[in-house]
Amino acid sequence: MSSVRYNRVLLKMGGEALAGPNGYGIDPVRATEVAQVVKDVYDLGIQVAIVIGGGNLWRGSLGSEMGMARASADHIGMIATVMNALALQDALERTGIVTRVQTAVEMRTIAEPYIRLRAMRHLDKGRVVIFGGGTGNPYFTTDSAGALRAMEIGADVLIKATKVDAIYDADPVENPNAKRFETISYIDFLNMRLRVMDSTAVSLCMDNDLPIVVLNFWQENSVKRYLLGESIGTTICNV
Ligand code: UDP
Repeated sequence: MSSVRYNRVLLKMGGEALAGPNGYGIDPVRATEVAQVVKDVYDLGIQVAIVIGGGNLWRGSLGSEMGMARASADHIGMIATVMNALALQDALERTGIVTRVQTAVEMRTIAEPYIRLRAMRHLDKGRVVIFGGGTGNPYFTTDSAGALRAMEIGADVLIKATKVDAIYDADPVENPNAKRFETISYIDFLNMRLRVMDSTAVSLCMDNDLPIVVLNFWQENSVKRYLLGESIGTTICNV
């Protein structure tokens, strides 16, 4: 077997990964498919931590556009991410993987509170840790939570799982001449105002030299192939 290039990874996926065909809600069948992808990575012997978003259920920005206080709308969004974390936990446990959910907002009867050293201990023991509740602060996104947690637990890479196969300088659907990047520097990504990843998250990774790979989660074995050394997706790093 090829050797894997990372020991511990943080997988950031949007809540839409769990949505049914209409793009909304939690579809347990879809959750099972997501869990299988995670299991394939886990079976390589890699420690896997996950941050999941909540966009399939709620986005704070939408609530605030409709007149809610942004902080209140974001609190609802954070709780939505915990719902997704629990759905993913259920699906992963059904594959036989032992998991823990840790939340940035305390909900002690259903999940552990986020405790950094405890999360790392779970990972060392072969448990998959799912971080719910984002950063625990309004005005942030789960991309930022992914970057933050990745650095806190000493992950080797932040994998941003999306529906696009790579980063382009324009929308490849609208512009067939769009340039595809294999690698791009943090600063170029920020200067070009590319939207595939939240700029706060990219800045945080830039300041702490944490590589980000953006890949299509649904492309066959993409995460596994990336970790085995194939050139998949786009890497944002100090090039
Ligand atoms: N959110 C927040 N703080 C965080 C992370 C998330 O307030 O640290 C809220 C915010 O309202 C956001 C929602 O949770 O719109 C869902 O998260 P996100 O939009 O990142 O989900 P994704 O797009 O990844 O599914």
